[in-house]
Amino acid sequence: MGRVLIIGAGGVGTVVAHKVAQNKDVFTDIMLASRTKSKCDAIAEKIGGGLIKTAQVDADNVEDLKALFNSFKPELVINVALPYQDLTIMDACLACGVNYLDTANYEPKDEAKYEYKWQWAYQDRFREAGLTAILGCGFDPGVTSVFTAYAAKHHFDEMHTLDIVDCNAGDHGKAFATNFNPEINIREVTQKGKYWKDGKWVETEPHEIHMPLNYPNIGPKESYLIYHEELESLVKNFPTLKQARFWMTFGQEYLTHLRVIQNIGMARIDPIIYNGVEIVPIQFLKAVLPDPGELGENYTGETSIGCRIRGVKDGKERTYYIYNNCSHRAAYEETGAQGVSYTTGVPATIGAMMFMKGLWRKPGVFNVEEFNPDPFMEQLNKQGLPWHELFDIDIEL
Ligand code: NDP
Repeated sequence: MGRVLIIGAGGVGTVVAHKVAQNKDVFTDIMLASRTKSKCDAIAEKIGGGLIKTAQVDADNVEDLKALFNSFKPELVINVALPYQDLTIMDACLACGVNYLDTANYEPKDEAKYEYKWQWAYQDRFREAGLTAILGCGFDPGVTSVFTAYAAKHHFDEMHTLDIVDCNAGDHGKAFATNFNPEINIREVTQKGKYWKDGKWVETEPHEIHMPLNYPNIGPKESYLIYHEELESLVKNFPTLKQARFWMTFGQEYLTHLRVIQNIGMARIDPIIYNGVEIVPIQFLKAVLPDPGELGENYTGETSIGCRIRGVKDGKERTYYIYNNCSHRAAYEETGAQGVSYTTGVPATIGAMMFMKGLWRKPGVFNVEEFNPDPFMEQLNKQGLPWHELFDIDIEL
């Protein structure tokens, strides 16, 4: 039934490969391709059973991608490489008639700025080609967007405020490490904060607004308002929202390291010359930091990510909190990857499943909240990310 090509053999790619291989009724032919083929081979070998073919590909190069697409002939590409590769992979999809899914929106390498405008600009070309592009199908963006769509469909006549709350209460035992690609992660958390208020964006200094929030099964954690990409599509797709914000927990140690990294120039994304060689400081930093894919073994604790929403149902004010908690240890035992990779890779697999089953298939470029949330929500419970709902509680925000 389904030929799928996974691009990117990092932490998230590891989880996608495992989950896709567990769903043989949907994914009949699987290939994992990445810049370093040996990483693909190691993942395929661990999964075993000869289920996964592997290949080398430079996803920055459209011709290289086209050659791979034309030889494997996938129906869908799951892009879990880096955001820098989104547009080249979309170009190759258009050239070869392949459908597309990713977990993070495009970012230019030389500007730490993520916006959907580059990928939304492909809307007409995908529609005219009769191809589907599913954008942002990880946890956040991804599940948080589907949670919002589910809330709008079943629990509200009108949503007024949305607060996405993302807590990682895990401990990997390292002094400093990022939970996904360090370059992308540090670019994301060091930029200015931004939130939606009464029809316009309000900008804040990095980490300027913060407060303790209580997370289920975890307790209070200091949570910082940051900008996150799903806010851009959610306020467009749910125009009754008067306010939309994103909160992420950070420990003091993490913030101190981050401040030092910035102050000494190691977060710079512009090239410098060192001993006659051009290097980008943040890329050099990535090379010396722990590999997020290797954090799993000693990772304890859990993540808790969800949406807290205020609005009106049947003429009455209502609050609603929907969330998932994910154990780093359980994620590691199942896939060899930690919880942050797991909470991204499982939704990407479910999104691919939705496409393969014809449930999320329409020509054009779409954010996940534009599809029917119900079959996706059902699969979250079956594929390892069960969710919970609380009604009319104090949502603290
Ligand atoms: P990693 O850095 O662990 O993995 C990225 C993989 O992509 C690596 O295997 C890398 O190859 C490969 N790659 C990079 N550039 C190229 C290229 N030009 N051609 C082919 N392969 C390439 O990242 P993660 O697995 O942690 O993250 C993957 C994606 O998931 C990122 O886009 C990230 O932003 C996104 N993400 C989304 C989240 C969500 O909830 N929506 C949360 C977390 C992550 P090599 O091994 O050779 O370096």
